[in-house]
Amino acid sequence: MAKILVVEDYPDNLTLMTYLLTAAGHEVRGATTGRQTVAAAREQLPDIVVLDIQLPDMDGYQVLNALRADAQTAAIPVVAVTAYAMVGDRDDALAAGFDGYLPKPITPRTFARTIESHLRAPLRVAETREA
Ligand code: MN
Repeated sequence: MAKILVVEDYPDNLTLMTYLLTAAGHEVRGATTGRQTVAAAREQLPDIVVLDIQLPDMDGYQVLNALRADAQTAAIPVVAVTAYAMVGDRDDALAAGFDGYLPKPITPRTFARTIESHLRAPLRVAETREA
């Protein structure tokens, strides 16, 4: 079980990702803006942040930089989720310091396991639940 902060400003997507990660056994908290994300990360100290790149107040790169600039949140893995599924985006995201990159639309069947691949092994539960 991991503490996961899911950031998405589109309600249906936030609901879906929250459902998939909760069903896998994780403790999920949601945020819909960049400012909320930075505040929630400091308070929750999640094991991972799943971050939509397109947010109303900040873009995902600014959010990532804010998290990395704070010693409390600097080491938290951050996986980018973006509709900009174009050639080069993945490389750009990883070069910017994201720990992973997922294009939208997400694949419900594999989403929890994909997120868990960025967690330390003891925090992974999706595979054992499926078995
Ligand atoms: Mn968005």
